[in-house]
Amino acid sequence: MSDETRLIHAGKAAGALAKTVGPPIQKGSTVLLPNADALYDDANHLTYGRAGLAAQAALQDALAVLEGAVGVSLYPSGIAAIAGTLMAMLKAGDEILVVDNVYKPVRRFCDNVLKRFGVAVTYFDPGTPPGTLVAGASTAVRMILMESPGSLSLEMQDTPRIAELARERGILTAIDNTWGAGLLFKPLAHGIDLSIQALTKYVGGHSDVFMGSAAARDPVLVRKLADGVNHMGWAVSGEDAYAMLRGLRTLPLRLEKQGANGLRVAHWLRDQPEIAQVLHPALPDFPDHELWARDFSGACGLFSFVLKPAPDVAVNAFLDTLKLFGLGFSWGGFESLAIVCDPQLKVRRHAHDYGGPLIRLHIGLEHPDDLIADLRRGLDAYARLAG
Ligand SMILES: *Cc1c(COP(=O)(O)O)cnc(C)c1O
Repeated sequence: MSDETRLIHAGKAAGALAKTVGPPIQKGSTVLLPNADALYDDANHLTYGRAGLAAQAALQDALAVLEGAVGVSLYPSGIAAIAGTLMAMLKAGDEILVVDNVYKPVRRFCDNVLKRFGVAVTYFDPGTPPGTLVAGASTAVRMILMESPGSLSLEMQDTPRIAELARERGILTAIDNTWGAGLLFKPLAHGIDLSIQALTKYVGGHSDVFMGSAAARDPVLVRKLADGVNHMGWAVSGEDAYAMLRGLRTLPLRLEKQGANGLRVAHWLRDQPEIAQVLHPALPDFPDHELWARDFSGACGLFSFVLKPAPDVAVNAFLDTLKLFGLGFSWGGFESLAIVCDPQLKVRRHAHDYGGPLIRLHIGLEHPDDLIADLRRGLDAYARLAG
């Protein structure tokens, strides 16, 4: 044979691989089938690499264990997981009720895409009592999308009760459980139909990979999610799936440490004269603390606080003085971050006046004493300009 032919057929993947602790990272679009019968036997064979190979399958299995799910679909980002879930479950003529504190890009998807495809979107105040919410739903409502705690202002919904009442009316419930990370809160065990996460945040844990997941127990919903991914042509890479699997190994340790560090910082902030209010679900005076204490096994490192009213220059001086806190969106990594939330709150239908600038902190794995010293320097800079 000529070199051309030999170079195409030499160096193919070995048959049996050495067994390592983690799955192999397979790269492949084409999957070679064992015989002609297998070519169209989708039920028994993986026939194309887009559906994911060894690392993606291992991640799906591990997430199913974490979520207590029958099946988990993977998406190229957290926002794709939410968009994909809604696209898989809704059709023209349906209505969806979306909590008003929802992650802002989800609102963008609902307003720009869902509405264009004939799905009506109604935003409900996170404080709406479950009975009022479900009783007030029109007959077109097919799904309720929750986010609890909300990722800026931490409001919670009584999600198990909403799920229970919605089920009686044949309405699906879905939750963005990125704050709970599949670990601190178990949506499926609490009766919620669809548990969605931005794995980008705590599961990845290192601020360097995008991915999302949607998990379900009902095999019909599991199938719909998987079909939805297939129809849209979404795929995640083996390298990224491997990175997520690596993150999962230390998720409980990181969450425990970051949750404890966060609570330390939250308690300290509460005693500072520049602070009007600390919004952290684990603080007993947090308005929704009872819901958190009932349903959650812990807290992550994400919470917010309200500064006493001051001009923007004082707020910016606070943020610009911080050295250990990066100024950036996203969260869930090993490092601390801070943002001011106020511009994002303006899009809400049911605005809440916090009485001062709302700052969100993500607490990382630094020593809390160092973070506290950094925040004190920032508050000093704020106080000088607050007047
Ligand atoms: C970041 C985030 C998402 C989206 O995740 P991406 O991977 O960035 O698309 C969804 N929900 C919440 C609450 C988030 O914080």
